[in-house]
Amino acid sequence: MNKKIWLSLARMTGHEQGFINEAFDTNWVVPLGPNVNGFEQDLELYLNENVHVVALSSGTAAIHLGLLQLGVGPGDEVICQSFTFVASANPIRYLGASPVFIDSEIETWNMSPDLLRIAIKDRIKLTGKKPKAIIPVHLYGMPARMDEIMAIANEYGIPVLEDAAEALGSEYKGRKCGTFGKFACLSFNGNKMITTSGGGALICRTEEEAETTLYYATQARDDTHYYQHSNIGYNYRMSNICAGIGRGQMIEVEQFVSRRRAIHDFYMKELSLIDGITVFDNPSSDFNSNHWLTCILIDSEVTGFTNKDLFLKMKEENIETRPLWKAMHMQPVFEDAPFYGDGTSSDLFRKGLCLPSGASLSDWDLRRVVGVIKDLARYNAPIRSSSKIEKEIGVS
Ligand SMILES: *Cc1c(COP(=O)(O)O)cnc(C)c1O
Repeated sequence: MNKKIWLSLARMTGHEQGFINEAFDTNWVVPLGPNVNGFEQDLELYLNENVHVVALSSGTAAIHLGLLQLGVGPGDEVICQSFTFVASANPIRYLGASPVFIDSEIETWNMSPDLLRIAIKDRIKLTGKKPKAIIPVHLYGMPARMDEIMAIANEYGIPVLEDAAEALGSEYKGRKCGTFGKFACLSFNGNKMITTSGGGALICRTEEEAETTLYYATQARDDTHYYQHSNIGYNYRMSNICAGIGRGQMIEVEQFVSRRRAIHDFYMKELSLIDGITVFDNPSSDFNSNHWLTCILIDSEVTGFTNKDLFLKMKEENIETRPLWKAMHMQPVFEDAPFYGDGTSSDLFRKGLCLPSGASLSDWDLRRVVGVIKDLARYNAPIRSSSKIEKEIGVS
């Protein structure tokens, strides 16, 4: 059996162990300590805007605490991009609110500003009140159209929480994703841009919001010498050990981003000549994706094989690929939620596949992946040309 090629495996820089050992040696094996503050500072410096970062136990926890601070509660509606991973939407339900899903536009695969405007108007008309928050996502690292989304949000006075879980290092018009909204989340799960084994962060705009986040993340304890609580809190703080891994990872964050971009370039070069396959790319120079995962779309009428055929062929070759996210409006758990769409995300789901993109992949691994696609394309070429001929002469 060929060596397994994973979709998006974390790579260690070699510096992680040092920070962890330091935590042990100084007896900071607790959910607080110098690594947590150090990691937060590393992120603040990297994001290069005047933001305050609070390290948490997951990206999902970050979205939860962001929405909580936006006042989301029972009876509220929250607008959320439909084409995303379920963690973008689940915290809406944790708070007793209801999601309203918006389809994507075809160039960025992210929230369509046109549909967003239509949805806001319609929700106000139907419910008599404004949605409480808007959650755009920078999916697969591709920045959403933040100028248009922020303009609409500001026009209606609705705060934005950016889901930048997949977008550490991505830029829109030269500015890092995660620095546009009132809040933004990052994720450091095992297969994201950097990892802390598991973890996330809430990016806040003010020191005060960062302190409130910390308060809710540590069981909402009042400022008394005994344990008194006036609010419901959570146990969401990142541990000093996890943050040590994060500090080690941040030393090479630039290299991780450039490696993922180089992997994307390689796929672009190798696959663009195959009829019926499109590699998802930045729509213009305003967008600079980190290319967390390189995604392709397969037009099976042209290629003669579907995304599922390729997924299974890759599996046979011990290569992990992944279907694109199945949009939230298509999920059984959200079947009652309102949806404003035009078929974009369901079409992407039908045609797409994520290719191995981890920073630890070698050029040889990438050639193996491309080889499987080229072989399948070659094998299906006769089928393809005969069905084309049949169509041309009108045989059904
Ligand atoms: C991974 C991810 C999250 C959640 O992050 P966790 O750290 O796994 O909780 C949220 N949104 C998107 C789009 C993600 O990909």
